[in-house]
Amino acid sequence: MECKDSKCPVHGNLKTHGYQMEGMVISDKAAKTVIVKREYNTFLKKYERSLRNTSKIPAYNPECINARQGDEVLIEGTRRLSKTKSFVVTKVLKRASK
Ligand SMILES: [Zn+2]
Repeated sequence: MECKDSKCPVHGNLKTHGYQMEGMVISDKAAKTVIVKREYNTFLKKYERSLRNTSKIPAYNPECINARQGDEVLIEGTRRLSKTKSFVVTKVLKRASK
């Protein structure tokens, strides 16, 4: 399939900043946008405990990548694409098994 997406980091002219994160797609309902959930650990010095935090990041989903819910993806920082989006999915690490 030919990719004609101008906002595709591979075939289009979208530049990424090289800041990468891994996460899981929890929503693919919006057109060309996925919500990626990221888990990270933070250490609270005061209580000497580490916490598991999650954050939800909206990311652009290019045609040729076509990430779906449950997929593990790599997202990369880019210019601000919309009010909330400043990330783009660059790779699917693991497809959701179905
Ligand atoms: Zn593409």
